[in-house]
Amino acid sequence: MKKILAVLFLGILTTELKSQSFIQTYQDRVDQLNLENITSNLKEFEKLGVKTTGSQENDNALLWIKNKYLSFGYSEDEISEDPFSIGKLKSKNLIITKKGTVHADQYIIICGHFDSINGPGVNDNGSGTSIILEAAKILKDVPTEYSIKFIHFSGEEQGLYGSKHYVDDVVYQKKIRQIDVKMVLNLDQVGGKKGMFNDTVFCDEDQGGSSKNNAASKQATKELIACTTLYSPLKAQIDPAEHSDYISFEKKGEVITGFFEYLRSDLPHTKDDTFANTDVRYVFNIGKATLGALQHFAQASTVDNEKK
Ligand SMILES: [Zn+2]
Repeated sequence: MKKILAVLFLGILTTELKSQSFIQTYQDRVDQLNLENITSNLKEFEKLGVKTTGSQENDNALLWIKNKYLSFGYSEDEISEDPFSIGKLKSKNLIITKKGTVHADQYIIICGHFDSINGPGVNDNGSGTSIILEAAKILKDVPTEYSIKFIHFSGEEQGLYGSKHYVDDVVYQKKIRQIDVKMVLNLDQVGGKKGMFNDTVFCDEDQGGSSKNNAASKQATKELIACTTLYSPLKAQIDPAEHSDYISFEKKGEVITGFFEYLRSDLPHTKDDTFANTDVRYVFNIGKATLGALQHFAQASTVDNEKK
């Protein structure tokens, strides 16, 4: 027992040390993120209209996201759709899988919903969607030890239906686990309040639900905070994980963490959740934190093999 404890302790210690060390190669990839791409993603997302689950606009948004991945060079084989229904409404989640080099059967999930209600949802959640897209583009040819799933959920606004379906029918099938989820990093509403000084981001920690996965979430969130301060100009604060897709995973005992805006806009779920009311630079900065964290969690190569 003592030996097990010692090994566990060493494990925690190593993880902490890793989380604290700055890696220049990671920063170089973070620096590939640019404000123009985030801007055009958000503008295009706005043009797609009100993406209510089950609507044509929602289908169009999914196709727009899928075409982005194809344009980044992801193949059809790496892209899958997860159809689900809420009563008579039909919708789909979109999943892009990037295989890991060492732990190919263990997955880091980075996710965010793309559906909206009442408005175009540029903050809630075009912001998270835009960041996930750019992270996938930049990491496309970067080897990662763990596999990554980039997931765009629908049905979030009606009650986390898309993520619930994914967890119940894809991660598990007939209650038998099919996918080994190492952790879940969720991005929701990271657009900030326009005109305010948005210099802080909330890192969401699992403080409720099943208590078995709380300690692991606390550790993951600690690492998320460390990556935020290492790779972005933002400060980080902890808040409890709630009301977003990671909760579907939490209920199955998975380790979750995520980003949410610190100064909370009251425009989501209204027609005014638009590009004009979103702090693009804040989204850009959270994108940097995300790229740093995703490389850390997926153990991206520290060797710069992109230079030719
Ligand atoms: Zn949302």
